[in-house]
Amino acid sequence: MGHEGRAHALLSASGAHRWLSCTPSALLEAQFPDTASEAAREGTLAHELAELKLRNYFFTIDFGKQKFTRAVNKLKKEALWQDEMMDYTEEYLDYVKTAALGFESLPYAAVEKRVDFGSYVPDGFGTADCILIGSGILKVIDFKYGKSPEGRVEAEGNPQMALYALGAYEAYKLLYPIQTIRMAIVQPRLKDGISEWECSLTELLTFGRYVKERAELAIKGEGEFRPGDKTCRYCRARGQCRARADENIKLAFDTERKPPLITNEEMGEYLRQGKDVARWLSDLEELALKECLAGHTVPGFKAVEGRSVRGWTDMEKAFALLTEKGIPEAVLYERKPLSLAQVEKAVGKKEFESFVGGMVIRMPGKPTLVEESDKRPAVTN
Ligand code: SF4
Repeated sequence: MGHEGRAHALLSASGAHRWLSCTPSALLEAQFPDTASEAAREGTLAHELAELKLRNYFFTIDFGKQKFTRAVNKLKKEALWQDEMMDYTEEYLDYVKTAALGFESLPYAAVEKRVDFGSYVPDGFGTADCILIGSGILKVIDFKYGKSPEGRVEAEGNPQMALYALGAYEAYKLLYPIQTIRMAIVQPRLKDGISEWECSLTELLTFGRYVKERAELAIKGEGEFRPGDKTCRYCRARGQCRARADENIKLAFDTERKPPLITNEEMGEYLRQGKDVARWLSDLEELALKECLAGHTVPGFKAVEGRSVRGWTDMEKAFALLTEKGIPEAVLYERKPLSLAQVEKAVGKKEFESFVGGMVIRMPGKPTLVEESDKRPAVTN
């Protein structure tokens, strides 16, 4: 089955960080449509390419050069195709190759393997991008195509990866001795985009027992709602969820404490607690607009036409006419260089690096406020 057409479990591995924390969320969000954003569809396409590269590497006899080239050419016809996907997936392939060669002897490899973790999570299954097993080690590798540093995912304690590892362990435990679990997330579009973590089989199975308890609540919609910035961010119920609304109202309009001047400690606390308030308001606006456009009433609000932008009915004809009337082309067109990132995208990552890589300097970024847990070192003036 293609990546796009895959079914998703109610208690999905990718949503585990949410339903493990906020157990009623899985049933609540099930009533909202699961629409994939353009970025998600782009990621799906990049995954398909990554899969082809891995299959070609590990299973060359069945999936040789000709089949590989044909399949890649087919993907290139997709509307969301970008040439830079070839470079990014190459980085992922390089990581997987190095990981496989790091085993004492050639490991067993599975690519895009459906893993069943139903003995921990009711009807739980998912697809692991790459599984390597050998010398008592089970390694699960996940490819992520996101480019926003905000969306960076860490392997350490990652429930999605741990669920895939549990599924893989269940599938292979009779065939291979496994004592150590390694997990890696490869995000080639991010700087330092590789995150790795290792735990023992005992630790993984302890996590499995915890998951089982939480999943039993989640599948029945029981347990406590636990609204929070990270938990609610991609929840499909986020616009309408009462628990989130109540929590954010409390945080935004808390009138209990009214000190004349707030301290730095309070400042930190407000920022931490209030992180989801702005996002919640914007989710609420989006939902209210949808309701108004659907003809429903949201008291106190209505949808109107935004600022309209003028456009040509036929730009080429209009420019030809202006030129004919004596307006020089230099007035009508501006010539400006592409940004560094656009040039890199157009030229290709490897060529860019070999032609002009030495001419790139990194300017210090504008100071930005992040949480203490952020990996970047703190700066001061
Ligand atoms: S919006 Fe947040 S609190 Fe509400 S169900 Fe979703 S994750 Fe839970």
